[in-house]
Amino acid sequence: MPHQPQHPHLDPRSPLVLETRDLPRRPGALHAVRRSVPAPEDLGLELIGVPQGAELDLQLRMESVSEGVLVSGTVTGPLVGECGRCLRPISDTLDVPIQEFYAYEHSTTDETTDEDEVGRLQGDLIDLEPALRDAVVLSLAANPVCREDCPGLCPECGTPIDELPEGHTHEQLDPRWAALSQIKTSEE
Ligand SMILES: [Zn+2]
Ligand SMILES: [Zn+2]
Repeated sequence: MPHQPQHPHLDPRSPLVLETRDLPRRPGALHAVRRSVPAPEDLGLELIGVPQGAELDLQLRMESVSEGVLVSGTVTGPLVGECGRCLRPISDTLDVPIQEFYAYEHSTTDETTDEDEVGRLQGDLIDLEPALRDAVVLSLAANPVCREDCPGLCPECGTPIDELPEGHTHEQLDPRWAALSQIKTSEE
């Protein structure tokens, strides 16, 4: 059988791949990375997220530490979604911190931890996408609202309550009349 690489091959030109070749492997060495990248698909939750292809702004620094590279910084970009109460569109700005450690291949950390615990460099490359997804998804509300006190929809007609006149109600059969009409029915 041909040798199967442990990781799919990373493309150094991919916008979410960081190249560390120019970062000295000496603890304390720093490299700033600032780039705008198109958002990958499905970056978010069901009701809110970053539209695919929207511009994400990455302001990162890569820092050499003894066993690998620490990437930290912020990710900003546009958010669009739907209010979980009134279903009206929401637009907002994403601004989340990101911090992830990537161990050098064959370092002690690499040999002694699971891959889902600690990230890994792949050669000189870092795949930023999983950490980016985690940072973005964890920052989002599963049930976003257009504003904290959004009253939602009228359960009868589905109109947003704050667009309805005060005292909006729907005709409801008075329970006493309902009881009377039942008596009438049984007399017939
Ligand atoms: Zn709302
Ligand atoms: Zn109504």
